[in-house]
Amino acid sequence: MVVAAVAAGAFAAAAAGQTLQAAGESSSDSKTDVTPLANSRDAKATLGTGGGAPAGAPVLLQVARTTDGSAEAKKLTTSAKVTKERLEREAEEARRAAAEAARPKTVLPAQGIFTSGFGARWGTTHYGIDIANSVGTPIVAAADGTIIEAGPASGFGLWVRMQLDDGTVLVYGHVNSYSVYVGQRVKAGDYIAEMGNRGQSTGPHLHFEVWSAAGQKMDPRAWLAERGVYL
Ligand SMILES: [Zn+2]
Repeated sequence: MVVAAVAAGAFAAAAAGQTLQAAGESSSDSKTDVTPLANSRDAKATLGTGGGAPAGAPVLLQVARTTDGSAEAKKLTTSAKVTKERLEREAEEARRAAAEAARPKTVLPAQGIFTSGFGARWGTTHYGIDIANSVGTPIVAAADGTIIEAGPASGFGLWVRMQLDDGTVLVYGHVNSYSVYVGQRVKAGDYIAEMGNRGQSTGPHLHFEVWSAAGQKMDPRAWLAERGVYL
């Protein structure tokens, strides 16, 4: 008898739980609102746990409706908040995608005077271009890529080398100092070093080289021009 009563109580509690859940989803379902709650009260009375509650069923219904109403309102508020947050997130992602698409993928590595081109010079070959400006002039990544070397280099004093995703290597020579580390990802326009006069240099300038993925030294001016950057 006790076991049966406990089982009935458990069933009633479960039914009541379902009712609350159902009420939260659809407040118009008045049938499920009433019946299981009444059963629940009866089951508690059988077990002797519902003694404190008054016998007035309308009171229980009133409580149930109040709970349903606030739960529904809360759910709607939460739903609207979630939707608003999702829309804001999507708008932010769209703004970032547009900014990424609009930003230049190739830029001049430094501002200054173009003083020397690629090719034969003084009985030897000049494998890069020179851009002259004062010591400390910012040098930026000319494209997106990864820093593969930053430190001393024969003839260049200090240099920075970076590799693009297509294998192309960009070389920045005679730098006064650098602010990148090997393995660092940089984007076109990111500050990487400052112009200097180190190594075999006759005045402050950036010596800039472009090596193909196969290691062939190319004319940086032509490489830049192919990407819409003119010097
Ligand atoms: Zn040079």
